[in-house]
Amino acid sequence: MLNRDKFFIGGQWVAPSTKETLDVHNAGTGDVMGRVPAGGEKDINAAVAAARAALEGWSQTPVEKRAEFLEKISAGLKARAEELAKLIAQEVGMPIKLAGRIQAGLPIANFANYAKLVKGFTFEETVGNSVVVREPVGVVGAITPWNYPLHQITLKVAPALAAGCTVVLKPSEVAPFNAFLLAEVIESVGLPKGVFNLVTGLGPTAGEALVKHPEVDMISFTGSTRAGKRISELAAQTVKRVALELGGKSASVILDDADIATAVKATVSGCYLNSGQTCTALTRMLVPESKYAEAAKVAAEVANSFTLGDPLSESTRLGPLTSAAQLERVRGYIKKGIAEGAELVAGGPDAPQGLPGGYFVKPTVFGKVKPGSTIEQEEIFGPVLSIITYKDEDEAIRIANDTLYGLAGAVWSKDDAHAQKVARRIRAGQVDVNGGAFNMNAPFGGFKQSGHGREAGVYGLEEFLEYKSLQLKG
Ligand code: NAD
Repeated sequence: MLNRDKFFIGGQWVAPSTKETLDVHNAGTGDVMGRVPAGGEKDINAAVAAARAALEGWSQTPVEKRAEFLEKISAGLKARAEELAKLIAQEVGMPIKLAGRIQAGLPIANFANYAKLVKGFTFEETVGNSVVVREPVGVVGAITPWNYPLHQITLKVAPALAAGCTVVLKPSEVAPFNAFLLAEVIESVGLPKGVFNLVTGLGPTAGEALVKHPEVDMISFTGSTRAGKRISELAAQTVKRVALELGGKSASVILDDADIATAVKATVSGCYLNSGQTCTALTRMLVPESKYAEAAKVAAEVANSFTLGDPLSESTRLGPLTSAAQLERVRGYIKKGIAEGAELVAGGPDAPQGLPGGYFVKPTVFGKVKPGSTIEQEEIFGPVLSIITYKDEDEAIRIANDTLYGLAGAVWSKDDAHAQKVARRIRAGQVDVNGGAFNMNAPFGGFKQSGHGREAGVYGLEEFLEYKSLQLKG
């Protein structure tokens, strides 16, 4: 059992203000794998006070020195990469091989990348008789989800520290242990006390206390659109800067001239990554009416080739969902899809056979899904693909854009210029063109109800900076 009973505040491990704890479940078995404290307002107040006290010193620390700390944090995480991957494979359920590459690998890479980026960043420029200076926004409250837990934390903590901000982190209660490991690494590299603080707890208690706190200058949130709306309302009371990375319902548009097999295979994989619990998952596959039969056949074959199993086994391609709540939700959506008359092409709502007690769901594909139906519009957050047919390109683009979300998308065509033209008409923050690779330096974030603000690369650093102009007499 992994029991954590202290918070990291002001450079020390301190006892929580309450005795209440939260159970954390192993996604692969359903068993309780450990507990963390359920912090509340008092704990958040202590953490914010520590962050506020540290702000002046940290913001004045030379950029090179701040970058050095980030490099050390990256190295510290790297030294514990195997432990980290195993931990997150159990907390989240992502198969171990992928967890090593993504869940541990991306945070290690991003801490190092921000060290590099901040050293090359232009913090001031002259405009007429003014010197325009970029300054840290101040104390940052970071609130993060469970699906890529340390990656989401890193995309806030690394650029915030690089910018000269101090941070209070409230990680997801569903997968919080990786955040404690990060705090240990941060402690081991000797980051000045109070620059990074960690408090665990539930959203409506610890999370809201952080959002409301008058001494917090900015909230950087990743999570559901529902919580993002609530956070925006609360943050407005103190006119905080808010950055929101929210949900998605991304479309993969397969154009008439595309190679169907290649496009469908990549779309199914893009949908099922992390058991579909990826905000950018390609959950809607748009195909021309005339190509439906072929696309559905390939999609079913690919779906059925995803071996479900223990996330700690090297041969597993698809792990369980992360929690019992997720399992219930995803099965509910699969039943809803059937009730709404979509064609079940692969999978279904029944529990897969022969697996341990974890939160497993069958990789599922629905065909002939109606635009506007529930499974076509709502974020399911499970391995459930909807195939939708279209008559012409304009209709495809209309369907792709016709949800509340605008986080990501993909376009496929044998002609790159054609694919790019369509990609430019999709209202989403990032669109993959013919399987273009993930780029950690490209801006990441949403249009519409997928949020506002951008993470990653230099764009993510700018989120944590304010402009100040000094008018000179000349
Ligand atoms: P969630 O919104 O339930 O929780 C996210 C975090 O917010 C948790 O730490 C939670 O404790 C906290 N929280 C919840 N209610 C709160 C409140 N009222 N005030 C303050 N904090 C509160 O989301 P989740 O279930 O952890 O994550 C899944 C969601 O996250 C999905 O919708 C997914 O699309 C989204 N997501 C988006 C991105 C992105 O970059 N756009 C990335 C990953 C996940």
